[in-house]
Amino acid sequence: MPDKYIIVPEREFAPHEECGIVGIISNTEKELARDIYYGLFALQHRGQESAGIAVQYNNDAIAYYKNMGLVSEVFGADELQLLPKTFAGIGHVRYSTTGSSNVINAQPVVFYGRHGRMAIAHNGNIANALVIKEKMIRAGHIFQSSVDSEVLASLINYYGAEDITTGIRKACEELVGAYALVLVAENKLFAARDPQGLKPLVLGIRGDDYVFASESCGLDAMDATMIRDVEPGEIIMIERGNKITSSHMSGIMRRSCIFEYVYLARSDSIIDGVGVYDARYECGKQLASLHKIDADIVAGVPDSALVSARGYSDISGIPYVDALGKNRYIGRTFIQPTQSMRESAVKIKLTAFKNNIAGKRLILIEDSIVRGTTCKKIIHLLRQSGAKEIHMLVASPVVKYPCYFGVDMDTREQLIGAFRTEEEICSEIGADSLHYIPLSNLTLACRGTGTTYCKGCFDGKYPLDVEQYYCRKEGLE
Ligand code: SF4
Repeated sequence: MPDKYIIVPEREFAPHEECGIVGIISNTEKELARDIYYGLFALQHRGQESAGIAVQYNNDAIAYYKNMGLVSEVFGADELQLLPKTFAGIGHVRYSTTGSSNVINAQPVVFYGRHGRMAIAHNGNIANALVIKEKMIRAGHIFQSSVDSEVLASLINYYGAEDITTGIRKACEELVGAYALVLVAENKLFAARDPQGLKPLVLGIRGDDYVFASESCGLDAMDATMIRDVEPGEIIMIERGNKITSSHMSGIMRRSCIFEYVYLARSDSIIDGVGVYDARYECGKQLASLHKIDADIVAGVPDSALVSARGYSDISGIPYVDALGKNRYIGRTFIQPTQSMRESAVKIKLTAFKNNIAGKRLILIEDSIVRGTTCKKIIHLLRQSGAKEIHMLVASPVVKYPCYFGVDMDTREQLIGAFRTEEEICSEIGADSLHYIPLSNLTLACRGTGTTYCKGCFDGKYPLDVEQYYCRKEGLE
């Protein structure tokens, strides 16, 4: 049994992705809300703040339910029964980096538009959302929330006189940012991914049903088999009768987010043809080749770094042990992304396995160090629990720059690595030694080339010029 614990404010624990999305269309009317529920459950790691499901029924009606909390807290049997049998529906889990944390900003966004009743859910960050919103307000539109999805809905409707696909294409060509979206209307299911493919989105099949999910683990949970990734800049429309139409936006230039492999995605997902587990394991192997450390045991910080720790152990021959346990039973009360909650007693609990580490020289592998506060607490805990030496290895390079694309690390001041040397970081977190994997090795581990991925938070080179919008956003919100 673990016998030491620390309390870590949730937002300090790690950076967070802002959302997960699911969409499904079937040839037969069935309880798709349940399938969406399972898909969202598997994507819970991408957002724990709110959850919602919208299904289209009776041709032009949409039933939906959304609320604050984890999927399991928002949807019980009663809530799922409110959602009728259907041919198509979408779902969403949210973690906000824009818009305040309340139910009005929960998704899907349901609205009346040129094509009747429509529902949209998206994952990502639209850098020029405020510019577009002001334009739409001047054109007579009104908004009831502060989420980008409503801006997206309004713009798609604005350009959708011809048809919805044209509306999505023209809207997306005006957007600057990272996003993946699903939309249900006219008994059709639509999906789109930004021209850089910064946000992941996959397409799967289950019998006669087609399914979209942010990650392949969402497809697995819905018993669907992955067909392929939605391509960067691709818009897919699926009609009943299995008719699939694919088209593309202009300006496509693949730059998927490499941080998905480092931390954001679940280890059993496959993104853009690369297994997240494989990439993390390879990072561990490379760390073992680069940094040979005289130690007794190797361990990972749960969850994402456990795989890298196994890779390190397999190459180095140093035994792998569990040093830390994580409390997995954390509900809505524990996760509120505001500064006050960050500072408050709203916590995640990490525990140390004292018997495994007492008197040992420990190599501890972490997926990334962003703010450094958690790392410092973990090292303190491990020392309190008897570890003789703690050598920290990080399966990603130093995070030096903010992310403008929806991952919650948005100013340089937040980042421990922005203005410090590695020696200074090591001393700050209290480790005996500290080493990071070089960016070229991380890229190789993710089977990428110099230009396959966005690596902006590591090298400051972003695929889009968004800093101007970001400053504007900070000033206005
Ligand atoms: S800046 Fe970092 S976290 Fe943000 S999209 Fe690029 S690689 Fe991902």
